[in-house]
Amino acid sequence: MSDPTDPQSGNVDPPDRRRTRRIGVLGGTFDPPHIGHLVTAVNVRYGLGLDVVLMVVANVPWQKVDDRQISPATDRLAMVRAAVVDDEGIEASDIEIRRGGPSYSVDTLEALHAEDPDAELFLILGADAAVGLDTWERAEDLASLATIVVVDRPGSVGETPRRFPVVRVEVPRLEVSSTDLRLRIRDGRPTRYLLPPGVSELIAARKLYCCER
Ligand code: ATP
Ligand code: MG
Repeated sequence: MSDPTDPQSGNVDPPDRRRTRRIGVLGGTFDPPHIGHLVTAVNVRYGLGLDVVLMVVANVPWQKVDDRQISPATDRLAMVRAAVVDDEGIEASDIEIRRGGPSYSVDTLEALHAEDPDAELFLILGADAAVGLDTWERAEDLASLATIVVVDRPGSVGETPRRFPVVRVEVPRLEVSSTDLRLRIRDGRPTRYLLPPGVSELIAARKLYCCER
């Protein structure tokens, strides 16, 4: 008997009968991307049966611009691409960089919805990011565009504002942050096993975080 899932058999469903795509959106500055981001992406994808998790690189992260020097978006995108190179189902997205200006998740979710109106969207946040949801641009629209998914993050204090319905997914708790990694690189302390090797190579090649450029 022919296998209905085998593309060779000619029995592949026509596009209009394909099931809804389930797309996760993990936004961030990714300056640099680290194992905390990747472990989150991989485990939420598995836990919720998502087709893909997009690691969406913020163009101008409006919450951070006043605090410190952010690496150029092109460098952060290159690092995320290097981080996900071996991962089926995890992709780097430059949608916010192409859009330009300040990066609001609500605009990104609307753009993804416009691209594929049938897709189901999942906005993935660490607990520390979820605490501030109330302050996000058009926060009231987020929950109607996407299911909000929150993962624990060691050291995070505070609660997700109650008005946001959230789904929680258990992921291994890793006390890793880009802030700590930037300091490690600056000070010459080890980052091995905290950063994917391709990311470390790019940081060295582009002299990020350590030297005057
Ligand atoms: P920074 O220290 O510069 O703020 P970061 O490590 O928090 O960097 P971001 O790019 O700010 O990384 O985070 C993007 C998203 O990933 C946020 O939703 C954040 O909560 C989540 N995230 C980052 N690190 C972890 C981690 N170790 N465990 C779970 N979620 C994380
Ligand atoms: Mg952060």
